[in-house]
Amino acid sequence: MHITIPAAAARLLARLNDHGYEAYVVGGCVRDALMGRTPHDWDICTDALPQQVKEVFAGHPIHDTGIRHGTVLVMEQGEGYEITTFRVDGDYSDHRHPDRVSFVRSLREDLARRDFTVNAMAYHPSAGLIDLFGGEADLAAGVIRCVGEPSERFAEDGLRILRALRFAARFCFQVEERTGQAMHAQRALLDYIAAERIFSELKGFLSGGGVCALLLEYRDVFAQFLPEICGMFDFCQYNPHHCYDVWTHTAHAVECAPPETVLRLTMLFHDIGKPSCFTRDERGIGHFLGHPEVSAQLANDILRRLRSDNRLREAVVRQVRSHDWPLPETERAGRRFLARLGEEGARWSLAVHRADILAQHPATQPAKLERLARAEALLDDLLAQQACFQLKDLAVNGRDLIDLGLAPGPSVGQELKRLFALVIEGECPNERGALLARVQRPKEHAETT
Ligand code: ATP
Ligand code: MG
Repeated sequence: MHITIPAAAARLLARLNDHGYEAYVVGGCVRDALMGRTPHDWDICTDALPQQVKEVFAGHPIHDTGIRHGTVLVMEQGEGYEITTFRVDGDYSDHRHPDRVSFVRSLREDLARRDFTVNAMAYHPSAGLIDLFGGEADLAAGVIRCVGEPSERFAEDGLRILRALRFAARFCFQVEERTGQAMHAQRALLDYIAAERIFSELKGFLSGGGVCALLLEYRDVFAQFLPEICGMFDFCQYNPHHCYDVWTHTAHAVECAPPETVLRLTMLFHDIGKPSCFTRDERGIGHFLGHPEVSAQLANDILRRLRSDNRLREAVVRQVRSHDWPLPETERAGRRFLARLGEEGARWSLAVHRADILAQHPATQPAKLERLARAEALLDDLLAQQACFQLKDLAVNGRDLIDLGLAPGPSVGQELKRLFALVIEGECPNERGALLARVQRPKEHAETT
């Protein structure tokens, strides 16, 4: 099996070999290259100790911030390459950080401490592929399987449970049976993992292609750190728009959304408030009045707990809150839609609507998709007209109002907002002359309001 490795990486391997050391590219890059994907970085492992690596590359730009874990970053042709000494992890008394790492002499031991067979292969241009655990076969079969005994590997590091789901989702792979059993059985190990690391794996998982089946099959694993989702499990909707229970609908909706973090998180949480808003009318039909607001609040709490950055959290919460808004059918409604969500938010909202529709009862989809297409065309038109959707797009500014005699101060801002509302409502074109003619001075203001 031949892999084409970057010339710079090959030079680093050759230089280590010339000094009498073993060296290989290893891990994710070997896996990606065998799959025909372009690796985003080429990690190198070697039997040279970190100090020896530094000596071999004396004169090269080097960063040794990872040296405690055996990693030296060597720059070659403007790219950084992590060169890590063969190592094994010490005991994991806390299920998340090895108490120490120890350097070892053999590649075999280094490969054996890696998480999954597909991640535990090394490659050298002359030695070829070094695959001691059947990684190549698992890659061909599309299987995520632990190296060694799954329950031991997860006990060492609970984060591997989510890494397994992330890789399975990214490559649309199956989780090998015993590996999967151990993930269910040992999901409580996730309690030991820092929220930031969980969230980072969750985002990675959600951007994968095969998320729906995994969300369904491993719902207990997700519920370990998202207990709020349990209410959705098997929750029957008693509603002709739906053919799935709330969680099954959610899982489908996530996969139907484009793989962007904001959208996937929005779909994950959009109906999380439904169970607590459920009522049935006299005909037995289920309703969920007010659920978007409840979902938005839950999403906000969860994203805070997971230490999401504020921008992402706010964007998701806004999309969850607005996911059930009627789509605009008139220009005025379109302008309001754009004014409330902004251009990017409006586009996200259309994607959210689409994903939601595609996860609903198939019989109800064509009419809804048609309405969606009309809303999309309407917003495209409005945006192409360069219409005004934010205060800063208004054809007049505060200076203009002051020149007209308004006293500088808060009343200028208020008057700008009033003019902006006139434009959004279609009561005044966004033109300087027209707007200036509508300016009210504070005295007139007091008379008319
Ligand atoms: P990605 O494309 O997401 O970067 P990757 O396989 O390169 O995938 P990394 O997290 O960058 O994943 O880790 C590099 C390699 O280190 C992995 O391929 C694996 O061999 C090993 N590894 C990383 N994290 C763990 C872990 N928690 N337990 C065991 N081995 C790990
Ligand atoms: Mg990597």
